[in-house]
Amino acid sequence: MAVMAVYDRVVVPGATIYFQNDEYVEATGKHPVSGERVTLAVLREDVDRDRRKSDSFYRIGAAGTVAELSPNGYLGVRIQNRLNMDEITVLPDGSLSLSVTRRPDVDDLDLEDAHRRVESIKNEIIAFSEKYSWGPMLRMQAQRWTTLWEIAGALSPWFASGSEEKYALLAQDELQKRFDQTEKLVRENIELAKVNTEAQSAQEKDYNRLYREEAIKKQMSYLQKELDELHPESVSDVRRLELKLEEAGMNELALKEGRRVLNRLKSEGGSGPEAGMLTDYLELLTSLPWKKEEGKKISLSEAREILDRDHAGLEKVKKRIVQQIAVMTLRGQQSGSILCFVGAPGTGKTSIGQSIARALGREYVRVSLGGVRDEADIRGHRRTYIGSMPGRIMDGIHKCGVSNPVMVLDEIDKLSSSFAGDPASALLEVLDPEQNANFTDHYLNVPFDLSDVFFICTANTLDTIPEPLLNRMEVIRFQGYTPLEKMEIAREHLLPKAVQAAGIGEGRLRVTDEAMEKIISEYTREAGVRGLKKRMDTICRTAAVHLVEHPEDTVEVLPENVDEYMDMRGLRAKRVGEQAKPGIVTGLAWTPVGGDILYIQTLMTKGAGKVTVTGQLGDVMKESAQLAVSLVKAYFPEQASVLKKSDLHIHVPDGATPKDGPSAGITLTTALASLVTGVPVTPQVAMTGEVSLQGDVKAIGGLPEKLMAAQRAGVKKVFIPRENVEDLRDVAQEVRNELEIVPVETIGEVWDQLGMRSYHMDLAI
Ligand code: ADP
Repeated sequence: MAVMAVYDRVVVPGATIYFQNDEYVEATGKHPVSGERVTLAVLREDVDRDRRKSDSFYRIGAAGTVAELSPNGYLGVRIQNRLNMDEITVLPDGSLSLSVTRRPDVDDLDLEDAHRRVESIKNEIIAFSEKYSWGPMLRMQAQRWTTLWEIAGALSPWFASGSEEKYALLAQDELQKRFDQTEKLVRENIELAKVNTEAQSAQEKDYNRLYREEAIKKQMSYLQKELDELHPESVSDVRRLELKLEEAGMNELALKEGRRVLNRLKSEGGSGPEAGMLTDYLELLTSLPWKKEEGKKISLSEAREILDRDHAGLEKVKKRIVQQIAVMTLRGQQSGSILCFVGAPGTGKTSIGQSIARALGREYVRVSLGGVRDEADIRGHRRTYIGSMPGRIMDGIHKCGVSNPVMVLDEIDKLSSSFAGDPASALLEVLDPEQNANFTDHYLNVPFDLSDVFFICTANTLDTIPEPLLNRMEVIRFQGYTPLEKMEIAREHLLPKAVQAAGIGEGRLRVTDEAMEKIISEYTREAGVRGLKKRMDTICRTAAVHLVEHPEDTVEVLPENVDEYMDMRGLRAKRVGEQAKPGIVTGLAWTPVGGDILYIQTLMTKGAGKVTVTGQLGDVMKESAQLAVSLVKAYFPEQASVLKKSDLHIHVPDGATPKDGPSAGITLTTALASLVTGVPVTPQVAMTGEVSLQGDVKAIGGLPEKLMAAQRAGVKKVFIPRENVEDLRDVAQEVRNELEIVPVETIGEVWDQLGMRSYHMDLAI
């Protein structure tokens, strides 16, 4: 008889236990034949065949016959009886030799009750199987079950209960008890299966919802796109903004804010009170250049060429810019130190900014800071304001449409501050490389990266730029042009541009050098070339009229007919005279619009030593006057004694020039000395320098501009502080050639040279 070992199954009479054919062949040494009798020995543990011993088996087993042979390699053994395993011997090849006796049941089963309970279990199983793909198979099987033993046997491979519990059923002699126990086991396992599958399907449901949602969204956006393409004219604003928002490539924070505002717009509807404001905001947000621009490869020689092509002169400035480009290239950065161009109007500060943008192959944008008083001008108003707007910086970025423009912040010296916050501190943040990657405009309310912006500031003077701002920037000075440079600029840039703008053909207008010189000296008085540019434009417009009326003519502008081509009278040239009078001396001043000459006039009247100063003078100048009086008294005690019986009046005519600043000290003191000594000083001698109470001449600023002004005015000789000799390097050769420049250390040297002798010089100092 065939003997097989089983483990972890419900082995009870009435059940069918399934094996693989291979298992059967291995255990019995023959192929299964239907009806063949099989003895089943039940294993306590899952032990391999070659390691089984007699006590690996329970003492009760079962006997049955091969009842089913499936074509898929399975066979079913239908169990008929229980057996006492009286003797179990494990043979060396692992097979068993048994001595068994039949073990009878106590048949006390209530058949009717049992039948009802089996039906109930079957229904339960069928209902449970309903939801699953494998349900139909299970149901088919279930139809055939008539006893609880069949059910337990068939399902037992999936039972979670332990093998001991299953064996306990076989060991139970009383049939009713065995039934109760078996039912309990089956029901428990069904419940367990239910709980498991429910948990699993709950999880599945979650996943499914998620997948579904994604899929629906994708589908929707696809369909919407199709629709939009079919009817581009009817794409709603909201929808268009939504698309733009997702495609703008903005940072997380901005995207979040954008979606928030979009949702508000959606719930507001197109006509709500805030719809306009929300739409404006989204329009701006989505059209900002969020995507980073690639840095271009720049050839230094090309950059240099572009700078040269656009601007004549300005050698130092161009050199510095090329250096900056080189450093940026080496460091792989799009922005470098912040440059601040300082100089008089019309010296090319703004236009060279444009040129730099061209040289770098980048966009150019100009942001005017003139008259900016509020922080909000720079950083925008919060959106809660009616009519709120972004600040000028973000407005500039919006206008140029790229993340890395060359941005010229024009007139940074004209910032002022008011009760509404200090614009300078907002600018500080814009220009700080540590902070500007996250610049937050109040209106936008999300950070924007300004770190690729190449900032250039322009100013006429450094005096009014707040110190912390100034520290951030590298100052580059634009000194103003000499007449010769102006000539070149007019010839090569201003005139050709004006000719082109007026539509005048090649060779139909000629301006002689002499005429140009006259225009420069008599029709302009400036450090830069703005006025000159206007004159060129005027010439061309006037010539255009003539050329239209006389198509055959050409126009030639000569010194004799220059006046006809001007729309203004020639300026009274501010040139120094030749007549010298005691008490009047020529000084040099620096102003934000360039250098200028000034006269200091002094007069003595009968009186008692009162000093009057007039001419809108600043406090510093008034103090200089006091100092001058003391110095002159000390130097010329004899001659100055008249001052005791006189009142002194000091006046600086021409209120247009700001006279605050100590650099007129040397002029003031000399004017006074000339007055008391009676020695006249020719107006063709000018001077600049601060004077100490010891009579030392100290350094001053703006020397190049002052010397240029001196030369323009026809001055021949200039006294300058020796401490300023270094600055002469910045003075055009042309100017130096025409002036006799005399560096001095003390005021005494000046007076010596002018022929004012003190009778008690040694005594005085
Ligand atoms: P700023 O900004 O210093 O006030 P701008 O840049 O506005 O001066 O210059 C005024 C005009 O003069 C512009 O048309 C500019 O092109 C021209 N200009 C100034 N300097 C030069 C120069 N060195 N070469 C050619 N054109 C110049």
